[in-house]
Amino acid sequence: MSFPLESAAIASAVAELRPRTQALIDGRFVDARSGATFASENPATGATVATIAACDAADVDDAVSAARRAFEAGVWSQRSPADRRRTLLRFADRLEAAAGELALLDVLEGGKPIADTLSGDIPDTIECIRWHAELTDKLYERVAPTGRESLGLVVREPIGVVGAVVPWNFPAQMAAWKLGPALAAGNSVILKPAEQTSLSAIRMAELALEAGLPPGVFSVIPGLGPTAGQAIGRHPGIDMVAFTGSTEVGRLFLRYAAESNLKRITLECGGKSPQVVLADAPELDRVAEQVVAAAFWNMGENCSCGSRLIVHRSLKDALLERVIALAATWTVGDPLDPATRVGPMIERAHLDKVLGYVAAGEAEGAQLRVGGRRTRIESGGHFVEITIFDGVRNDMKIAREEIFGPVLSVIAFDDDDEAIRLANDTCYGLASSLYTRDLERAHRFARAIRAGTVSVNCFSEGDITAPFGGFKESGFGGRDKSADAHASYTETKTVWISLGG
Ligand code: NAP
Ligand code: MG
Repeated sequence: MSFPLESAAIASAVAELRPRTQALIDGRFVDARSGATFASENPATGATVATIAACDAADVDDAVSAARRAFEAGVWSQRSPADRRRTLLRFADRLEAAAGELALLDVLEGGKPIADTLSGDIPDTIECIRWHAELTDKLYERVAPTGRESLGLVVREPIGVVGAVVPWNFPAQMAAWKLGPALAAGNSVILKPAEQTSLSAIRMAELALEAGLPPGVFSVIPGLGPTAGQAIGRHPGIDMVAFTGSTEVGRLFLRYAAESNLKRITLECGGKSPQVVLADAPELDRVAEQVVAAAFWNMGENCSCGSRLIVHRSLKDALLERVIALAATWTVGDPLDPATRVGPMIERAHLDKVLGYVAAGEAEGAQLRVGGRRTRIESGGHFVEITIFDGVRNDMKIAREEIFGPVLSVIAFDDDDEAIRLANDTCYGLASSLYTRDLERAHRFARAIRAGTVSVNCFSEGDITAPFGGFKESGFGGRDKSADAHASYTETKTVWISLGG
């Protein structure tokens, strides 16, 4: 990416930002009908970044009417797949041209290190839109194996109006994971970003419009969860909601659907992902590098965060020594500084929650080896030290609940069966890592771990070609990424034709 990374250039790029703060409904920027606004905060400084339209049910109604009109008119839903591909590729080009700006918006509101948004979030956002665009006219439909007297066509159709409700930890990227497949399939989309991070979503919708997406096909409704989010969940004119966020709010969407129109629901929720290091793991330096990234990348504010290190007792001390040494090189600092690896927690309340978990770990007798305190207080931001607990038992609170902060729990085991038992002893099942040199054990263990992704000898969610989602309370109803995501945003229809005779 060509965006300059020198501090002076970043400071002037920030000063030049003039982000849009209104909702984008039916191709127009509008205030909330009520006139209400809310402030978004820079979590690294406590300063206000922007004052944003606080939409509620009335604005959701407007967006749904526009989305439905566009869908029924067929201006997008009935365009040829090749046409949709070309438009979405133009959208991806626009995103690429605005990559530096989008990266900065996610830094300012989300506290994410700029090195990460420039090298990860925004390139992945662009790639996701491009990949799904390309898929649009490369999927074939099916013909049922009937006798000669009939013809059974099995076709996939767009679901209609799709609500996308997303979190603050990967703002542009989580939006793209929903938008890419939903738009490629021909749906109209209404996106509600998290209240902490609205600006990149609003900019993405503006760029889509400039790329030729018809008005109404992609609206953005900034606002709060219990108002705008709930209105999307309960709206009878919305056919599907794709949600990423906490398991707690995910449950609410199932309730909203049950109590309204049985809209389709897909949920990508929380995790407490194990990193299992068997006694025959590869070189420990390499393992340590992956373990540290799994635990502390994106400040641990990551649904696939590898927050439980389940390690064979014979390796534990040697690995932990390396993990601690390496973690010390992950600089906590200003997220606009390209050298920063760890930015602030998203907000003060979340920082306090993370510190509460540290206190709970100590109270339950886990051994605090590193960190555990608030830091950089003078900045006005919500920073916490990278934190590592040794001597954790899997029944402790810090091993059971999703902390969503840079806190690693180290749990030792003595035999392989015990490792798998510990890995699976959680209500979650999103991601997991497994370290071994033995190919047979790798395959056997990969099948035994109950999680949507098992990465072997690395920490990875796979790329855009691989499905992503959770077992158990980590997910529901479908997968993000890959052609599986496309399937989540379409309905199956049978067209049964009598051929006489
Ligand atoms: P969250 O509180 O569940 O919020 C997610 C979205 O739901 C936000 O847009 C939020 O709006 C909205 N919302 C909140 N309360 C609502 C309600 N009563 N009705 C309807 N919508 C509501 O989650 P978060 O705090 O933003 O993100 C952290 C969580 O997301 C973690 O648990 C993490 O594991 C999970 N996550 C999962 C994945 C995955 O792919 N599996 C990816 C990223 C994050 P407001 O922000 O305005 O409240
Ligand atoms: Mg929230």
